[in-house]
Amino acid sequence: VPETLTAEQEALRNRVGEFADRVLAPLESGLDRDRESPVPAELRKQVAASARAAGIHHLLQPAADGRHGTGVIERVIAVETLARANLRLARYALGPEPGALAAAAGRLRERYLVPLLAGDKRSALAITEPRDGLSPTLGARETGIVRISGRKSYVTGGAEADFFVVSLTLAATAEQPQARALVVIDRDAPGVRVERSFHSADGSGHVQLAFEDVRVPDDQLLMPPAQGRPPIGAGLNDLRLRVAARACGSAFWAIDHVTERLRAPHREGIPLGQREGVRLRLADMALLLYAARSALYRTARLADHGHDVRHEVLVAKILCTENAVQVVDRAVLLAGGEALIDGHPLERMQRELRTLLIAEGASDVLRQSLGKGIVERGFRGF
Ligand SMILES: Cc1cc2nc3c(=O)[nH]c(=O)nc-3n(C[C@H](O)[C@H](O)[C@H](O)COP(=O)(O)OP(=O)(O)OC[C@H]3O[C@@H](n4cnc5c(N)ncnc54)[C@H](O)[C@@H]3O)c2cc1C
Repeated sequence: VPETLTAEQEALRNRVGEFADRVLAPLESGLDRDRESPVPAELRKQVAASARAAGIHHLLQPAADGRHGTGVIERVIAVETLARANLRLARYALGPEPGALAAAAGRLRERYLVPLLAGDKRSALAITEPRDGLSPTLGARETGIVRISGRKSYVTGGAEADFFVVSLTLAATAEQPQARALVVIDRDAPGVRVERSFHSADGSGHVQLAFEDVRVPDDQLLMPPAQGRPPIGAGLNDLRLRVAARACGSAFWAIDHVTERLRAPHREGIPLGQREGVRLRLADMALLLYAARSALYRTARLADHGHDVRHEVLVAKILCTENAVQVVDRAVLLAGGEALIDGHPLERMQRELRTLLIAEGASDVLRQSLGKGIVERGFRGF
C-alpha cells in the first residue's frame, strides 16, 4: 500500500483547498458568526452550485453503477481539506450521499435515493433510542405492510427531513425469525410525531421521534433483514472515517492558527513562539495530529485496496477525534483568553469536536467493539 498521495490526489486536495479559500471564505465573511443563526437557504444553494461548478459537489456521491464514484482516500481528502478551512459553509459544499440507501433498488431507489442525491429530498438517520429503553422501535410484519411503534431520541436534521431511515427489531413470523432491519418512513406518514426539537453543543439541530402504529409497505425495508446488528455496516465505516477526517482537518486548522499567533509580536517583548515551554506544547500538538492522520490515511488506503478495515476504522475514529480534542484544547491554552470568547473559532471548534467523541459511536463503545474483535480474532497489528 503506497504511503504517498498520487498526483491526482494531490491535485484534488489543492482544488478543494482553493475552493475553500477563493469561494467559501468570501461568502462566509457575510455570515453572522453566531452559532445559533441558521445559514440562509439561498446561501446554501449558492455554495452547492459553486461546488458543482468546481467539480467538488459530487465527491461523496455514487457513480452510475451505484458505487462510490471516488475512492475512500479521495473522500477523506475532501472532508479533511474542507474542515481545515474551518468555515461554517463548508458543510454544504459536498452533495448528499446515499448512506444506508446505497443498495436501494426499484421503488425505494426511485422514490427516495434518486431525489435524495438530486437534492430534492432530505433524509435523517434514526438509530439511537431513549436511554430508559422503555419504548424500543419494533416492527410487526403483516401481509404487505410493516407496523412500527417506538421512539428515536437523537435524529440529526430530523426537523428538515422528508423521510427517516430507521433501525428496528422485526418480530418473528411463522416463516421468518426475529431480525434487525432498517426501514424508510416518510415524515408525513400517519403516526409519525416529532416529540422534541433541540440543539447540541456544536449548534446542529436534532429531534426526538415517536412512531405510533405507523404502517409502511414492506418493500420499504431497505435490505433483507440481517440477524444481529442493524444492517448499515459498510456505510457506517465510511461515515466514521469521514468523522475522523473532519476531526483531523479541524486540528490542522488549530495548529496553523496558533502557529501564526505564536510568531506575532507579544506584549512580553518577544513572540511567544520563542519560549521553550510554548514550543514544547506546539510539538505535542504536532505529535497528536501526526499519529491521528497516519491512522486515518493508512486506513483509507487499506480500504481502497479491498482490505477488511472494520478494526482500523474504529482505531482511526477514536484516535482522530480524541487527539483532535487534545490538540484544540492546547490551542486554546496557547491562544489565551480571547479563544474562550463566545463565537471565537477555537471556542466553536472545541464544542464541535466534543460532539464527535460521541456521534457515530461513543469512544468507549467503539473501544468495546475493538477489544471484542481482538479477543475473538487476535490483534492483527493493523
Ligand atoms: C452531535 C450528535 C449527533 C448525533 N446524530 C445522531 C443521528 O443522526 N442519529 C442517531 O440515531 N443518533 C445520533 N446521535 C446519538 C449518538 O449516536 C449517541 O449519543 C451515541 O451512540 C451514544 O448513545 P447515548 O447518548 O444513548 O449514550 P449511552 O449509550 O447511554 O452511553 C453513555 C456513555 O456510557 C458509556 N458506555 C455506554 N455503553 C458502553 C459500553 N458498552 N461499553 C463501555 N462504555 C459504554 C460511554 O462512555 C458512553 O459515552 C448523535 C449524537 C450527537 C452528539
